[in-house]
Parts: sequence; C-alpha cells; structure tokens
Amino acid sequence: MITKTGTLYPNKYVIICGHFDTITGPGTSDNGSGTSVILEVARILKDVPTEYSIKFIHFSGEEQGLYGSAHYANNVEFQSGVRKLDIKLVFNLDQVGGKIGNVNNKIICERDTSGQSGNNAASNTVTQQLATCTTLYSPLQTSISNAYSSDYMPFEKKGDVITGFYEYTRSYNEHTVNDTFANVDPVYVFKVAKAAVGAMQHFATASSTVSAVSASKEKPLTTLESVKMYPNPAKNILNIELPDSGTRSFTVEITNLAGLSMLKDENKSQLNISSLENGIYLCTVKNEGSSVTRKIIIEK
Ligand SMILES: [Zn+2]
Repeated sequence: MITKTGTLYPNKYVIICGHFDTITGPGTSDNGSGTSVILEVARILKDVPTEYSIKFIHFSGEEQGLYGSAHYANNVEFQSGVRKLDIKLVFNLDQVGGKIGNVNNKIICERDTSGQSGNNAASNTVTQQLATCTTLYSPLQTSISNAYSSDYMPFEKKGDVITGFYEYTRSYNEHTVNDTFANVDPVYVFKVAKAAVGAMQHFATASSTVSAVSASKEKPLTTLESVKMYPNPAKNILNIELPDSGTRSFTVEITNLAGLSMLKDENKSQLNISSLENGIYLCTVKNEGSSVTRKIIIEK
C-alpha cells in the first residue's frame, strides 16, 4: 500500500485496489492482471499532481474470503467503529487479463446494486464516469454490470462508493492451473491500464500544470491550488473560480490536445462551451504572467 498526497484535499482518498493472492494455479489473470495495472497507474501518476489523495493497495486473502480488504475496512478505515479515513471512492480491479485468442475489446464496469442501498446511486454515477473515461482514454468498449465478491465489498458495507473493472469475455481460467502468462492477453491488459490511468486522473482530479511562470508581484496563480474549473466533466457551462474573484483580470483559453485554440475569453466566470465536441481539452487561466492549466473533459 502506498499513498500519494493530494494538493487540494489531502485527507480525502481515492482508493485503487486489487488482490495479489491466488488459489489453485499461478493466478496470472486472477489477479496478476489487476495487480500489474495498479502498479502501472502508480508509475504514470507518480509525478502528476492530483487534488485528491490516492491510495494504491494490493490486498491479500481475497480468495479465502476478502480477508485483506475486510481487515482494512474494519481496522484502518474504521477504528473501534469510528471512521478514520474519508474515502471518495474505491476502484477495484479483479481479473482483467482476458484469454489469448478471444476477442478482448470490452470491459465490464461494475456498479453497486447490493448491500447498503444509500450508496448505490453514487456508485452508479462513478461507474458511468468510469465507462466514459474508458472510451475516452482506451479503445475498449464498456458494459455496465453489478459489483460482487471482490475487495470492494467490505468498503460497500461501510457505506463507501465503489466501482470496478472485470473482463467482459470470461477466460474461465481463474482458480485453475491454466491461469498462466501464456494464456492471458497482454494487449488487453495494456488497454485496461490506459483506461484505468484515465479514470484515476478523473477520479482524483489530475491538475497537470503545464506552465508555472510568475512575473508579477501578485500572488502567482500556480501557487493557488484554489483556482477552480468545474464541473469536470462539463457539459455546456464551465465555471472558472479564482481566489479574490472579481478583483483579478484574467484570460481563459481552451485548446484541444493538438494545441489548437478552440475558445478564448476574458474575465468570464462562466464559459459557454456548448459548441465544443466531446473530448479532452486543456483549459488555461492566465493573469499577469502566471497561469494554471488543467485537463478538462467535455461530455454532453
Ligand atoms: Zn480475483
């Protein structure tokens, strides 16, 4: 387990997790695949600032009965029945290896439909976002199904918001001697990792600052994590919120990932983005030589 500290909400956590134990056989897909994707997400996001903290967790004892995750929920998240960790959501990956030779072009995004009912709607929302990020960041198609029998369930019992990935075309090699490296589809695992990186950037609100220049005496924007661009994903209106709103003059520009300017305006706290197509853009807010750039998703 490792924690990456958030810039704006250091005490609120996005958990990405999966079990590394196995039962009968080497367990390459169940769950070496999820284990490796979590490591890859950690490697890629290591130097990307995120507003929320991230905990990357490999649990043990899943196959014997969710022992590791249950222990964590009962003794780390909660201590003597008192909540110690504020969890934004739990994203679990279990068996995302596919089977070599199958057509592996789809992933199941799992939402909470059981246990407590109070957290089901929020789980549905983040699972839809997981599906959206999957299609934006990877070539995979998605299918929504229900969450069950994996390491997110002890968190679900505590009322947390959960979501997950599971292979769509089942290998049926799990818990057998055939769950080997030779039998998984590494290209599929790579695509799942792309989707997971994209989803985690969204869930933890990655705020990649492209330029960090300050030429003025005014407090540079880049030191002010409180510059807000929301909602993200946005539909028709993007709100821009600066500290000391109203007293600063600024420009705001949206460019596509090819660097082409799509929209430019001045001193607007509400930007009409209804003319922009669905996709990923960079939004830059500038004032007096300092600027903040963030990645935004437009999704109608
Ligand atoms: Zn598993």
